[in-house]
Amino acid sequence: MATGASLDPYITRPKVYVLGRQAVVSEELARFLDDEGLQFSTDTEAAAEVLAEIAGRTCYMSFGKGRKTNEQYLENILTSKHGSVLEHAVWNLLITGVSRSLTHELVRHRAGFGYSQLSQRYVDEGDARYVVPPLYQENEELRKKWQETIDLVRKAYADLAEATSQYVLQKRPEMPARDRRKWARQAARSILPNATETKIFVTGNARAWRHFLELRGSPHADTEIRMLAVEVCHALKKESPNIFHDIEIYDEADGMPAVRVTHSKV
Ligand SMILES: Cc1cc2nc3c(=O)[nH]c(=O)nc-3n(C[C@H](O)[C@H](O)[C@H](O)COP(=O)(O)OP(=O)(O)OC[C@H]3O[C@@H](n4cnc5c(N)ncnc54)[C@H](O)[C@@H]3O)c2cc1C
Repeated sequence: MATGASLDPYITRPKVYVLGRQAVVSEELARFLDDEGLQFSTDTEAAAEVLAEIAGRTCYMSFGKGRKTNEQYLENILTSKHGSVLEHAVWNLLITGVSRSLTHELVRHRAGFGYSQLSQRYVDEGDARYVVPPLYQENEELRKKWQETIDLVRKAYADLAEATSQYVLQKRPEMPARDRRKWARQAARSILPNATETKIFVTGNARAWRHFLELRGSPHADTEIRMLAVEVCHALKKESPNIFHDIEIYDEADGMPAVRVTHSKV
């Protein structure tokens, strides 16, 4: 399957698509409150925030008591580091325009995340796009050198994949064509660079996303993943102002945005 043939082969920024968010099943919430003889209402429309509040209030059966607004309720969760409550808020993000080196770092985040990533065995990388490292985006000469190298690799991959396909056909003529292609690609992909674009579907809970933003939005992180963290931060702050209100994007001294977290590792 060819992808991206008509697109610019060089990518300069990641894209984040919020493909999934939660919904509250209000009839079931009403049934629970009725069964327990409780009163509860909250002032947020964001299901993730409602669910996190209900999860927290279940711990102490504090429905209708204590803090009045969802923002106040979740602020107390953050300050008291009752972070497990935030695991009930979940988003599904589709991330594109990132390099294989970025996703190698991303998938090191284990707790609270699930991943599905583009396969270089099934997908023909002959039309692959490449992510320009931020440092090369600011220097014309270095970018040119980088691009020349990528162009060499692109051609080498196409030649090698073709030669490998011929060899696999001779070696295993009985094999279905789809499997032969997989065999050829799984060998030829070994020469693809870290800069090769990939796409990854990531499901994460709010606690895990907060940890990712803290570690990868920091100026100590690699710049490409830091720019991804900034995009994710924009998206999640829009999704849930109350869960992510203490996390902010600011301009670092290096001229790039970064992410700052007030309540560290909730
Ligand atoms: C600036 C930077 C540089 C890095 N450099 C390197 C490097 O050179 N080499 C390298 O290999 N990695 C490197 N890493 C990756 C780093 O070591 C972590 O693997 C990665 O950041 C994921 O962090 P985490 O383990 O806290 O996250 P997650 O896996 O998401 O875990 C979240 C939290 O859950 C808890 N947790 C998760 N799993 C376990 C467990 N098995 N046991 C106990 N507690 C657990 C921990 O409290 C953890 O912080 C770097 C990361 C950063 C941000």
